[in-house]
Amino acid sequence: MDTQQLSASFQLGDANVHQILDAAPDAMLVVDARMAIRLVNLQTEKLFGYSRAELIGQSLELLIPHRYRAGHGMQVERYLRAPTLRTMGSGLELSGLRKDGTEIAIEVSLSPFDNHGEPAVTAAIRDITERKRLQAAKNVALARLSGAVESIQEAFALFDERDNLALCNSAYRRLLAPVLPGQLVGRSYQEIVDARVQELELVDAAQRAQLRTSSRPDVPTSRTEINVRTRDERSLRIVGQRTSDGGFVETIWDLTDDARLAADLREARLAAEAASAAKTEFLSSMSHEVRTPLNAILGFAQLLQRDKKRPLDQVHHEYVAQILKGGALLLRLIDDILDLSRIEARGVSISTEPVDVCEALDELRAGLAPTAAQAGVQLEVAHQRRSDVPRVAADRTRFLQILGNFGSNALKYNRPGGKVTFSISTPSPERLVVMVTDTGIGIPAAKQDLLFQPFQRAGQEAGPIQGTGIGLAIAKRLAELMGGTVGFRSTPGQGSDFWVEMPVHSSSVIEEVAALIPLQAVSDAERRAAVLYIEDNPANITFMEHLLDALGNFDLTSARTAEIGLEIARAKLPHVIIVDINLPGMSGLDALQILQSWPETAKIPVIALTAAAKEHDRRRGEEAGFYRYLAKPLRIDEFEQVLGSALQQARAQVGP
Ligand code: ADP
Repeated sequence: MDTQQLSASFQLGDANVHQILDAAPDAMLVVDARMAIRLVNLQTEKLFGYSRAELIGQSLELLIPHRYRAGHGMQVERYLRAPTLRTMGSGLELSGLRKDGTEIAIEVSLSPFDNHGEPAVTAAIRDITERKRLQAAKNVALARLSGAVESIQEAFALFDERDNLALCNSAYRRLLAPVLPGQLVGRSYQEIVDARVQELELVDAAQRAQLRTSSRPDVPTSRTEINVRTRDERSLRIVGQRTSDGGFVETIWDLTDDARLAADLREARLAAEAASAAKTEFLSSMSHEVRTPLNAILGFAQLLQRDKKRPLDQVHHEYVAQILKGGALLLRLIDDILDLSRIEARGVSISTEPVDVCEALDELRAGLAPTAAQAGVQLEVAHQRRSDVPRVAADRTRFLQILGNFGSNALKYNRPGGKVTFSISTPSPERLVVMVTDTGIGIPAAKQDLLFQPFQRAGQEAGPIQGTGIGLAIAKRLAELMGGTVGFRSTPGQGSDFWVEMPVHSSSVIEEVAALIPLQAVSDAERRAAVLYIEDNPANITFMEHLLDALGNFDLTSARTAEIGLEIARAKLPHVIIVDINLPGMSGLDALQILQSWPETAKIPVIALTAAAKEHDRRRGEEAGFYRYLAKPLRIDEFEQVLGSALQQARAQVGP
């Protein structure tokens, strides 16, 4: 039996038709040529809220919102004149009116048929309210996403999992417009990269390859970053990032302004450094020039004062005393200016070591005692149990310089019968404060703001107490260079407190560093090598002992001055000599020259180890004949390597 025969032999009754219609998932109804509803199914009742009896015989308009009724009538008429099949999804989206007055979004499919010579239409109606709601939500989300992408200042593009552009902002479009005009969405990443490469400059083959492959899904790195320059001299940073769903995001930063700013800053910094170096150079040569005649002035003034053969009369004695006083102040001013300019140019070497604060204060008190006695001021150090006072991490000389300035000011700006007290406190286990308290004249409130600025004498400019106004500025900068701070409070007419707060030295640092150094780092052939270390700072010597102990089996001898070091060198003939440059008395450089002049020590490699290790210092040092010129703080791996090769050289010269 063919299909036609099959369907002819299968006759359905009305009841069967109703049953079938009721089983359909969509609402279905049949209308005649006058738009009267002739048949409805169960879904129609449910969808519109009418019973079957309420619908049959009614005009279709019952189910159409009032505002569409007139237009709808005409459409139906037109449709009936030329009826065609319109299936679901063919775009007929309408509004329906429920019995309770609410409207629903519906999609309608129409199918005309001939009902015993009369035209009729079957309509299948689907509720698409939910679909519409989801569509609207999707549109909102899309609009939000586009808004967000658009608001990204950088050029931004999103590629789908096939590497076709799905979304980009106008900054991205602008960037590509010169090389790839027109629609971008849908273009492949390769096409975009190929166009962009024309515009880029200085892209080497490797970069080209990187640009081309950065978006490929088989490239394992999830993020790529390439910095390129364009032909019109812009600097771009192109960053690609794979997304978890296999897509690819590209962001392009225009760094032209940043790069230009960085170059300007670099230039300005270099110019400032050059100016500062020139200033320091000028001050140092000027101070030298001023010192020479000043030495003559002070020297001859002293000779006049002491001349027993032709003694000065009382008045001339007084005049010469004034010359000496003025000269001394001038000398002080020159030294202070030089010191300050060196500090500001970061040209001072700070050599941090554990400093015993009680010992430093004893030394200070001894130094200030004569001035205190002269001024009739009582000088006191508020004692604590020495064992309770931790050591501070500081450059001892510079720490004493700060306290010396506070102390001499406290005496200078005091009154006869007054008092100056040094006291120590530890506000936390890591910090120690030394406070200098005086019962002097205090500082006028209006002048306190500018204290610690160079050349600010806080009201003393025209007063009888001599000074330069630089001491406090130096004290502040020195404290900061050592990781400390300074501060003060003052009540005019009653007195002032000046204090310096410094980091407490943690005694375990040396041990910690030593523990980090691998043992046996120097080979067996180099064991038991004799090393002489000339260094005045005890903490540095202790450190070297720990270091050499950790590096191997060394025989270390140390000397605190170059003079002693030279004697030891001649007597012991060490394999290697390590020497500091800034030593009390003879410098490391002078010591080197003497060592080179003695035949027995001339071949010993001498390594300089110094805080004054700028590039030109290093060059000059190595030209002078140092084996190597190393900077403090020491880089252990570099030191180890230099020491190893110096020993090798020394052993090769001596022979096995
Ligand atoms: P100066 O050489 O003038 O003493 P400083 O820089 O040491 O320079 O101090 C700056 C100014 O701060 C001083 O001129 C003085 O006016 C004020 N000053 C500093 N210490 C004290 C103090 N202990 N008591 C009163 N005034 C002080």
